Amino acid sequence: MAVFEQVTERIAVTDPVTGETIGDFPVMLPDEVCAAVDRARAAQPAWEARGTSERAALLAAWNNALWDDQANAIQIIRRETGKNRGSAYVEIALIDSTVQYYASHAPRLLRPQSRRPAFPIRQRARVYYKPHGVAGFITPWNYPLLNALFDAIPALIAGNAVIIKPSEATPFTAKYAIDLMHRVGIPRDVVQMVTGDGRTGEALVDSVDYISLTGSTATGRKVAVRAAQRLIPYSLELGGKDPLIVLKDADLDLAASGALTAAMENAGQTCVSIERVYVEAPIYDAFLDRVQHYAAQIKLGAESDFDTHMGSLTHARELERTEDHVRDAVEKGARVLVGGRHRPDLGPLFYEPTVLVDVDHSMKVMQEETFGPLMPIMRVADADEAVRLANDSSYGLSACIYTRDLKRGEQLATRIEAGDVALNRPQMTFGTISVPMGGVKTSGVGRRNGPEGLLRFVKPQSIVVDNALLAKPALTQADSMTRMGVNFMRRLRRLFPFV
Ligand code: NAD
Repeated sequence: MAVFEQVTERIAVTDPVTGETIGDFPVMLPDEVCAAVDRARAAQPAWEARGTSERAALLAAWNNALWDDQANAIQIIRRETGKNRGSAYVEIALIDSTVQYYASHAPRLLRPQSRRPAFPIRQRARVYYKPHGVAGFITPWNYPLLNALFDAIPALIAGNAVIIKPSEATPFTAKYAIDLMHRVGIPRDVVQMVTGDGRTGEALVDSVDYISLTGSTATGRKVAVRAAQRLIPYSLELGGKDPLIVLKDADLDLAASGALTAAMENAGQTCVSIERVYVEAPIYDAFLDRVQHYAAQIKLGAESDFDTHMGSLTHARELERTEDHVRDAVEKGARVLVGGRHRPDLGPLFYEPTVLVDVDHSMKVMQEETFGPLMPIMRVADADEAVRLANDSSYGLSACIYTRDLKRGEQLATRIEAGDVALNRPQMTFGTISVPMGGVKTSGVGRRNGPEGLLRFVKPQSIVVDNALLAKPALTQADSMTRMGVNFMRRLRRLFPFV
């Protein structure tokens, strides 16, 4: 950040609720980004040398400081996004779970692993896990704390230096969190922030050793092409159109309230937002009744208490897209069951929690990511039709099924084309840090969370040691000694496959 004075172009950040300018920040272009990467590269070896446990302890100290300062953190997040307190709290709670999970599991997961050698006794095979070096993170605005740091946590614990490019809409939350990291002792050059727009993101892809993007599918395609040109590894956490299926044996109160919660969380601006609901015909009317009952209780507003369920949208474009999807659906025969109105009386970007019925797959609301507080519900004949329609999407991020038959529900879940599926509690896979999370189809490449989310930040290096017992000089890999060994091992492994 010391290079700010070299740049002239600046971007203003506004409070979506009041429209006031919070501040501005510079657009950092390739020279500044490269300078940051150079500093990170110079600092990384000493960070790696500290060892996994020491790095994990520093992240744990940061997490504790963040937890203790959560009232302040929530205020900073809310000011940039306009979200309700509960959605800001979720960011801090998930950071806490992430740090706790990796701080306790990473030392074991990153330890060198013994593997089966080709010729036991004579050989030993081990895999070492080495950090990539400098990992870059291009992140969105919807959860400006969580998404800026979520993936950087395992990258840091794995021994990488990291550079975070937060969204141009919400840089101050990331700055706050990174300053706090420096205050607990994580070296300044090991975790840095570069600010700017897509140009800054491009410069980051062009200079780091690993790139992680959380953002839209359109940006994901661009980042993948750019990373491919350099042949650097990457992961992409992209958009979704998550389906929720309600089977006829479901607890309808839980299903209706759960669906609404997951559709309206963060005003629908959540990657794993429920954006389509399929309900079996016999319970369709009863389900709609329960949805109306719970939707009437959702409190929309700018208040800072936990009882306000939904806040403002963050950008005008989310408001415009939500209105467009409602308009398109209604023109094609859909009916607004709940909400459906812009609420400028509360603030420029407030929109009511909205439920649509009589929808079908010809409508934008069933095909395109809305990223707004909109829940379309469709009647289906049976579970097979629900699964077919759930899979009729270019996206495949996350999904949910409500049923009391847990065994059948789990079997059905395996038929859904999504990176993860939750039963009876939508978005819970996202909150279960031990399991991998990420998309199939156009929802992404790679996985965050779980061992998979850590191991993407290391390069496995295999080392095979041959003690040369009884070895003789040879000028071919197929010398008589080796052929004898191959035959012997072949017979042995028929009897003892795991030798
Ligand atoms: P976006 O793609 O517009 O921007 C994301 C980031 O990419 C920003 O920091 C932006 O400056 C940067 N960027 C833009 N163009 C770039 C380019 N050409 N090269 C490099 N970087 C570039 O997305 P957004 O509007 O900030 O976020 C909303 C999207 O993110 C939604 O589609 C949502 O579903 C998705 N999202 C996905 C997840 C997930 O885990 N799968 C989580 C949160 C959000």
